[in-house]
Formats: sequence, C-alpha cells, structure tokens
Amino acid sequence: MISPSDVSPHGRSRTAGVVTPAYGSSEAGPAGLPDSGRFRPRRVAGAVRPGAADEVACLVRAAAAARTPLHPVSTGRNWGLGSALPVDDDALLLDLSGLDRIRDVDIRRGFAVVEPGVTQGALTGRLAGTDRMLNLTGASRHTSVIGNILERGVGLHRPRAEDLAGLELVLADGELARTGWWPSPGGPAVVQPHGRGPSLNHLFTQASWAVVTAAVVRLLPRPRTVRILPAVFPPGRLAEAVDTLRAWTAGGLVPATTKIYDPVAARTYGIREATGPDGACLAHLALTGDADVTAALAGVLTARLRQDSCPLSEGPERAADAEVHAAYAGEHDPGDALFRRKTGGCCARCVDRSRGLLMFLPVVPFEGGAVETAATLIDAAREEGTARPGIMMNVLDADTIDHVVTLRFDPADPLSTAAAHRTLDRMHVSFAAHGWPPYRPDIDHPPAAATDPVLHRRLVGALDPHGVFARGRFAPPPDR
Ligand SMILES: Cc1cc2nc3c(=O)[nH]c(=O)nc-3n(C[C@H](O)[C@H](O)[C@H](O)COP(=O)(O)OP(=O)(O)OC[C@H]3O[C@@H](n4cnc5c(N)ncnc54)[C@H](O)[C@@H]3O)c2cc1C
Repeated sequence: MISPSDVSPHGRSRTAGVVTPAYGSSEAGPAGLPDSGRFRPRRVAGAVRPGAADEVACLVRAAAAARTPLHPVSTGRNWGLGSALPVDDDALLLDLSGLDRIRDVDIRRGFAVVEPGVTQGALTGRLAGTDRMLNLTGASRHTSVIGNILERGVGLHRPRAEDLAGLELVLADGELARTGWWPSPGGPAVVQPHGRGPSLNHLFTQASWAVVTAAVVRLLPRPRTVRILPAVFPPGRLAEAVDTLRAWTAGGLVPATTKIYDPVAARTYGIREATGPDGACLAHLALTGDADVTAALAGVLTARLRQDSCPLSEGPERAADAEVHAAYAGEHDPGDALFRRKTGGCCARCVDRSRGLLMFLPVVPFEGGAVETAATLIDAAREEGTARPGIMMNVLDADTIDHVVTLRFDPADPLSTAAAHRTLDRMHVSFAAHGWPPYRPDIDHPPAAATDPVLHRRLVGALDPHGVFARGRFAPPPDR
C-alpha cells in the first residue's frame, strides 16, 4: 500500500476509499469516486494525486514495490463508461489532474505540449484569438485533452487519435520514454506523428501499460468561416436519409464530420415533437473553410435539401445556433453552455453524483440498412422501465459511422438503474452478434480475449510483466 510519504513533498495524497456503491443506491460512491454509470461496485486501494510529472515515476516504483496495481486517469470524467473507476478491485487510483501545465504552444507549426490535467477549456482559452484551434469534443470543457485522446474519442472535426503527435510516458519500471514526434533543436522540424520507422504512439492509446505524463497535440488551422446547416428528416426515413448522407460524403459535398441525432438526442437542439408524433431526426452538416467555399457548398446542399425526392429537408436555424457554431470554431466557452444543455443543466462537477447515464458506442457501416438495423437492436434491447435512449451518430469516413447510445436512468431508483444495466448488457450481446462491438467498452464489459493474443502476450511481457498497471477496459483478463 502506498502512503502519502511515498509522494514527494509537492505531491498531494487523497483519502483512500472503499468503493461500494450498490446498483440503485442513492449514494453515488465513496467521496471523490462517484460514477454516473452506477456500475458494479469496485473496491479501490486509495488515490494519489501527484503535482508534477517527476513525481509520477516515484509513485510507479512505489506501487511496483508494494504490488498495488495503478489505475491512471487524467480528469476521470469518462462518463457512462465508468468515470474514474478501474475494471478490477484493489487498484490505486493515480489521479493526474494536478499535472495541468500547458508546456508549449506553437501556432506556426500547429501543436501544443500539454499535461494530463489540461482541459479542453484551458487549451481553448490559451488559443483564443490565434490562427489555430483544438479539435473539441462534444463533452465538457472540463474534460482532459489527453484523457480523450487516450480513449481514441471523437472530436467535432476528426477522430481524436489523429490529433496525437507524441507521448511522454512513465513505464512500469519507472523509466521515462517518449514516442512519436517531439519538438527538439536537432530533430525534424515538421510535426510528423508517425516519424520514421515503427509508429509507437498508438501502442499506448486504449492501452494500460504506461502512464502518460504529457503529449504533443496537433492543432487545426482555425477556419475563416464555419457554417453548420441543420437538416431534418422523419425517423421513418432513417435508412434513406443515411444513404443520402453517405452519397454526399463519398462525393465530397460534405466532409466526413456529419453528426446525426435521433429524435431524443435532437431535443438538445430544439427539435421537438412539434414536428410530428415521432419527433424528427436532425443532422448537422458542418462546412468549414474560406467564405466563398462554404457559401458555394451551402448553396448546393440547400438546393438538394429542397428537392422533393430528398429524404432530408432544411431544419430550423435554431437547431444549429451560435453555441453549436462556436464549438466547431473551437471557441472558448467558459460557462460550458452546450454541455449543460446536453445534461439537462448539470455541470461537469455534478454529473457523476446527480445523473444516471450509461454509454454504448458501437461502430456500424455507413449504410442506411445497417443504421436502421442498429436502431432496431437498440429498441429491442430496451428493458421495461428503461427510458428511450438518445442516439447520436458520428460519421467517421465514407464507410463508417459510430453510434453514441446514451441510456438515462434515475440513480436514486434501484429498478430504473438495474433495468438500464440489463439494456446495456443486451446491446453488448446483440451488437456483437452483428460484428459491431463498441469501440470503447465500459468497465463492466472489457474484452474476454485479446484480438491478437500472441502479440498482446509479448507486449505485456515486455512492457508490464509484473502487472504494475491495473487492467484497463480494453485488455482481456491477465493470463499471468
Ligand atoms: C454530454 C456528453 C458528451 C460527450 N461527448 C463526447 C464526444 O463528443 N466525444 C468523445 O469522445 N466523448 C464524449 N463524451 C464521453 C466522455 O465524457 C469523454 O470521452 C471524456 O473526455 C473522457 O474523460 P476524461 O477526459 O476525464 O478522461 P479520463 O477519464 O481521465 O481518461 C480516460 C481513460 O484513459 C486512460 N487514461 C487517462 N489518462 C491517462 C494517463 N495520463 N495515462 C494513462 N492512461 C490514462 C484511463 O484508462 C482512463 O480511464 C461525452 C460525454 C457526455 C456526458
């Protein structure tokens, strides 16, 4: 067991806690470790919060000596997937939110060097008024840039994995290492995430064999104009609408960044039942670039949306208002206004305590028939008493669309909580049967086996043979 004395004088240690929330318990968890998903109770050995990167190596060595597996988190706001909780019992939480320095920003070359505690809001604020922006996600401004990149989350402009240029790591034996591209006087001057030779960055994303203490994050050129066209369609025309959007994406009429919202998710943007008893689906078609380019594309799209044969039609302007435009433009939003709209007014600090939400994130072919099948599977999985989930779809490219299924439940009601978990279990089974498992599992559904067991075993043997790091959500059970 690690004690506060194992941390250098600058480090802060948080109170150890026993994680014993029961499904449906009104208590979200122990102080400091609440979880909006109300997952299976976890027992943790405690929590440590270093204040600087050099303290992390000491903590890793101390954890190895004490044989207490470490579970690193950046800001621990992985809502719906387990938040800060580990997969297995008895891990020590390594809370890296205290490492919150923006070490470097290079506007000309387009990168920032950030530590795990740097939030989307902090980096966005730092970039205000410059020609560069962060590829924001739709989550709170108080979530970590690194935490989401390590999840390989999805930003508004591209998958977050594409924003990663380099990682600074503490390995299981406490040694420091770097992967990918880093600014250095003698090194390559152009940001090249893959560099020369083996490309190692993504060996450490969706992985649990090192602690990340900093990353080089690529910044996008800030577009001169942002134009988000809202388009709506009846739920009964889902397959046709998706096929139309796929054709527009493949044809280069819209970039592969379209977001599609089912009638429940569309309510966030003011689309309500007024559109009909079943509500309406909404799509955000995001056009960015020089004003004449976005105007020309908007003209072509608007003409197509007005055609009688088109399953989609123009949506009301309020469905893509100033807050939506600001997010795509990477603008600072200190009040976290758009996020609060999505959580019914809840701020980042209160989500884990006062909301019940689970997330299911399957990747589905970008085809009308497949997306319609996915909607049917979600509906069929619903347990009696489970509210209709919100479904948001992120177009990733012309062939792939990931789904964000958000199950909401009353965390104070044991029946509602248990029903939501049974619905989640069923979706895992039915989507896996179609070959559409989630690209990010939650803490109750880690994979049963590695997809590439031979390599996996060798990498574990090389990087963390003694289990210094707790099993993550992406790893099969250890065969040590
Ligand atoms: C309304 C709403 C909207 C959302 N929108 C989006 C969205 O648009 N896109 C999206 O991707 N997600 C979205 N999310 C999901 C989620 O909240 C985010 O993905 C969030 O960024 C993850 O939490 P975090 O940044 O605190 O990361 P953390 O919880 O700190 O980290 C995530 C995981 O990465 C690993 N990890 C973190 N830091 C380290 C480290 N330093 N070293 C080693 N391993 C580490 C750990 O396994 C950890 O569990 C949304 C959630 C809600 C409620």
